[in-house]
Amino acid sequence: MLNISKIREDFPILQVKINGKPLVYFDNASTGQKPEVVIDCLNDYYQNSNANVHRGVHSLSQEATNLFEEARVKLQEHFNAKQAHEIIFTRGTTESINLVANGFSQLLKKGDEIIISQLEHHSNIVPWQIACEKSGALLKIIPINERGELILDDYKKLLSKKTKIVAINHVSNTLGTINPIKKIIDLAHELGAAVLIDGAQATSHFKVDIQDLDCDFYCTSAHKMYGPTGVGMLYGKEKWLEKLPVYQSGGEMIKEVTFEKTTYAGLPFKFEAGTPNIAGVIAFGKSIDYLNNIGLENIHSYENSLLDYATQELLKISDVRIIGTANHKAAVISFIVNGMHPLDIGSIVDKLGIALRTGNHCTQPIMKHYNISGTVRASFAFYNTKKEIDLFIKALQKAISMLS
Ligand SMILES: *Cc1c(COP(=O)(O)O)cnc(C)c1O
Repeated sequence: MLNISKIREDFPILQVKINGKPLVYFDNASTGQKPEVVIDCLNDYYQNSNANVHRGVHSLSQEATNLFEEARVKLQEHFNAKQAHEIIFTRGTTESINLVANGFSQLLKKGDEIIISQLEHHSNIVPWQIACEKSGALLKIIPINERGELILDDYKKLLSKKTKIVAINHVSNTLGTINPIKKIIDLAHELGAAVLIDGAQATSHFKVDIQDLDCDFYCTSAHKMYGPTGVGMLYGKEKWLEKLPVYQSGGEMIKEVTFEKTTYAGLPFKFEAGTPNIAGVIAFGKSIDYLNNIGLENIHSYENSLLDYATQELLKISDVRIIGTANHKAAVISFIVNGMHPLDIGSIVDKLGIALRTGNHCTQPIMKHYNISGTVRASFAFYNTKKEIDLFIKALQKAISMLS
């Protein structure tokens, strides 16, 4: 059992008042709040350890380098990657996907195929469209059913020897659907295709074991795991990272530069051009320690109880329709209210201190599937409570009565 009131004390922002009301933060799928240990870690780094990494012989630079590389090993262990140099630090999931898609755009040829799904975040759509434009490859889309689940039979039909890479999210940020990625990965591998998993919405909710999944790439962002913004991870299997061409170029990523020919550094530095977000990387490691201290299994089961409770309470309101009713869901609920604009609902409940997200959630193809322009989304974290859900339901009822 989690001691939620004690956990809430770890997050300074949860004491903040919004429009004179206690903050009820249900926008965790956009970004998580940061525990004090993460905030302190950023401060502590700049106060006591700041120097550039992998460069100086001086003690401070070595200390910064050690902290930075320790974070890499921490991520390797947490996600059970085989080797630390398979962990690349990026700006976040978006950059991780761009790095891989850009590399593939140079490896693919006309007639090759890329498979994504209707459930993807724009970050896992647009880079592949660009890769197709550059290479002449074709983009194929796995459709979803009414519950918001991928239709696996259609996926099997799309797969062929022409498929070079399948890029799928682990959990949908809009509907909460947890995708059967192990099966998706196995099926792709049978035909020799690589698989990239967009894990931005998964890694805060449950433990991910990369070697067990056997995916070729796995991406996530620190800020969705209660760490800082502007830093994220790309895991890539060594053989793929060796094969992919460089993404950005400059300092850090080279072995030798002459005007005749430049050679590149080995992994992971080949993909880490320029001075990285050193403090952010170290604090990313801290956020993972923090999550592991609480235990991702405890987090998962507690968040499921919040999801069940909120779903049950929402369904009591007659005009509410939940969008996304997959059998396996993370703690994310999208809904619409008959005849009411999501933005109006979001604005009214904000006056009551409730932070929800409204709109298309960077997933316009999902909106198209349901023939709607947007939803209201409540997404939960382990520091949320049933009492907050009650406040949210009350505020929603008030909004509905004001708008009808
Ligand atoms: C948030 C999110 C992204 C984008 O992550 P950034 O941190 O903004 O780069 C991509 N995919 C999913 C599923 C997300 O939830």
